[in-house]
Amino acid sequence: MQCGVLFDFDDTLVETTIHFNAAKEKFAEIMSSLNFPAAEALETLNRNDIRNVRHCGGFFKECFPRALGQTYDYYCNVNKRKSDCKLKKEIEDLGWQVYEQPAEPIENAGAVLEILYRRYPLYLATRGEPSVQNARLEQSGLAHWFKKIYVLSEKNTGAYRQIAIEQRITPQFSWVIGNSMKSDINPALRAGFRSIYIHHPHTWDYEDEEPIGGHINVESLLDILNIIC
Ligand SMILES: [Mg+2]
Repeated sequence: MQCGVLFDFDDTLVETTIHFNAAKEKFAEIMSSLNFPAAEALETLNRNDIRNVRHCGGFFKECFPRALGQTYDYYCNVNKRKSDCKLKKEIEDLGWQVYEQPAEPIENAGAVLEILYRRYPLYLATRGEPSVQNARLEQSGLAHWFKKIYVLSEKNTGAYRQIAIEQRITPQFSWVIGNSMKSDINPALRAGFRSIYIHHPHTWDYEDEEPIGGHINVESLLDILNIIC
C-alpha cells in the first residue's frame, strides 16, 4: 500500500481565473464603449473560448486571445461595422497578457505543502501547455515540493489511473485535491482515488459538472490538513 497526494495547480495552489476575469472585464469595457452589448459579448466570448479549446484539442494558450478577437469581429459583423485591426490586436493582447501575470500562490499553499511533504509523496497534475505551466510553476516557488509534475492536455479518469500506475500509488489510500468537479474530483473518484474539492470563488464555468459524489468539500487549503494528517 503506497499513499500519495496529487494536487491540481490552477485555482487550487495559485490564482489563475482572476487574471482571465480581469481581462474579460477590460474587454467588456471596450465592447461597451463601442455600444456593443457587453454582457452578451462576455457570454459569446465564453462560447468561443470553449469552442477553441475543443477545436484545438486542449488548453492551448492561443485559445483565449483568439476568442477575444473572434468575439470583437462577431459584433462588428452583426452591427455592420468594420473591424479595426489595431483595436482587434489590442483586444487579443488582453488575452496574451493573462499569461504574463505572476503565478501567485493561494493563501497557505506553501505552508500546507511543506507539512504534507513530510508525510507523503506529493504530485502535481496540471492542464495546459507545458511551456506556460512549467514557467508558472517555477515562478510560484512551489515546484520543489513535488516528486513529479504532470502537465497534461486533459485530466480524465485514464490520466489519473496512469499516474497511479507510474508512481506505484494505491488510489484507495491516496488523495486528489482540486477545485474542478470536471477535471479533478469526478475523474479521480472514477479512478478510485479519495478526493477533496476545494471551493474557489472564481472558477471557469467550463469546469462545472454535477458531482458524482463521495468526495469531501472544503473551503480552504488549511482545511485539508484536518482530513489528511
Ligand atoms: Mg484548477
